[in-house]
Amino acid sequence: MRPLYLEDSYLKEFDATVAKADGKFIILDNTAFYPNGGGQPNDTGVIKRGDGAEFRVVFAIKKDGNVSHEVDSEGLGEGDRVHCVIDWPRRYALMRMHTAAHILSAIMNRETGALITGNQLGERESRIDFSLETLDRKKIAGYVRKANDAVAAAIDVKHYYMATEEAMKIEGVVKLAKALPPSVNELHIMEIAGIDRQADGGTHVANTKEVGIIELLKIENKGKNNRRIYYALK
Ligand SMILES: [Zn+2]
Repeated sequence: MRPLYLEDSYLKEFDATVAKADGKFIILDNTAFYPNGGGQPNDTGVIKRGDGAEFRVVFAIKKDGNVSHEVDSEGLGEGDRVHCVIDWPRRYALMRMHTAAHILSAIMNRETGALITGNQLGERESRIDFSLETLDRKKIAGYVRKANDAVAAAIDVKHYYMATEEAMKIEGVVKLAKALPPSVNELHIMEIAGIDRQADGGTHVANTKEVGIIELLKIENKGKNNRRIYYALK
């Protein structure tokens, strides 16, 4: 099933039915709550039942192909009709951070050949790890300027599904091919024309200009070839 957060990353509220309830762990028939993964933290928010009872979503993670929502109290049961609301300022901040990470990573890779080895997004501060032999702080500041040029160019961020077989033929689109379960027959693709295109299950803004301004906070040496940059958005 295509999750709602990938169908429309701007969906803030939705109706659902509880498909399974195991104490505080809830599975809905479909969800717009993004599950923790890929460096992007899970969404938080609230699940409201028709009788007015409210359950706060404190954590969400993928489990056996579904999103398991952890709520703050027990009481939801299978078949309950619910209305769900995502904590939008948090999600939107993470969408901006996530899109910025794509632009920064793509430019760094293009300019230096650096491989991105990890990233962790936060609402206020995010970081990207990459492997690069020499650390030239001036050059890195230059890459951030180039990333900001791409942001200011107001490029649409496109999303679409592609057959896995087709996607595998495009160089660089599937970076984690070996990690894909064999049952996956279509992939969600994120594309920023001229910058980056890859199979990606996260949430992004619709246009690069929504990112704002990327501010380089600090650069760290994490040992031989391992570098880490921290950034914020203005
Ligand atoms: Zn992404």
